[in-house]
Amino acid sequence: SFEIIFVGRSNVGKSSLLRELFGAKVRVGKRPGVTLRPTYIQISDLLITDMPGFGFMSGVKDRKQDIIKDKTVHYIEDNAERIKLGVLVIDGPALPQIVDRWDSRNQIPIDVEMFDFLREVGIDTIIAANKMDKVKESEYDSLLDKIAVRLGLEPPWQNWKHIIAPISAKKGDLKALKGLLRDRLHEMKRDDLF
Ligand code: GDP
Repeated sequence: SFEIIFVGRSNVGKSSLLRELFGAKVRVGKRPGVTLRPTYIQISDLLITDMPGFGFMSGVKDRKQDIIKDKTVHYIEDNAERIKLGVLVIDGPALPQIVDRWDSRNQIPIDVEMFDFLREVGIDTIIAANKMDKVKESEYDSLLDKIAVRLGLEPPWQNWKHIIAPISAKKGDLKALKGLLRDRLHEMKRDDLF
C-alpha cells in the first residue's frame, strides 16, 4: 500500500487543507494538541496520514510537544518503506520569522528539522506553503525566496516548484499542491486520484 503523510506545526492550517483536499473523508472532532495518534483517511489502497500538529500550543506543556515530535519521528522511521510522499504544511507568511527566532537561540526549528529528517530517511517531501492569501502580490516572490533559504534551498524559489507549493486552504486555492500531488501519483502510476 501507499502512504502519504501530512505533517506540520499546529495552527498552520493542516486540517483546513485536508478538508479541502479530501472533503467529507476527513475525520472531524479531533481535539487539536490533544490527539497524539495520527488519524487516517483511506482511499482504496492509498493511506493519507494526518500526523498530530507539533510546535507551540497554548495550554500544552513543552514536554508534550517533545512527545509529539518523538512519536512523529518514530512513526516515520517505522513506516518509511510504505511512506511514498511527505507533505510538510507550513504557515508561509510566518515561517521566516519563526526560523530566525529559533536560529537566534541556536535551535533548529521543528519545520526545518522535519523537512531534513523526511529527506534523510528518503521520503520525497513537498512543502505546502499555506496562508499565501495573506501575502501582497508585490511581496509574494520575495517571501517564497525567504522560505526557500530557510529550508536550505537556494533561491530563486521558482527553481524548487517541484517541492514548494504556495497555497491558500482558506481560499481553496490549492492548484500548485494538487499539481504536484498529481505528478507524484502519476509517477507512482496512481492516476485515478485527483
Ligand atoms: P491546524 O492546526 O494546522 O490543523 O490548522 P487549522 O486548519 O485548524 O487552521 C488554523 C487557523 O488558520 C484557523 O483559524 C484557520 O481558519 C486558519 N487558516 C487555515 N488555512 C488558512 C489560509 O490558507 N489562510 C488564512 N489566512 N488562514 C488560514
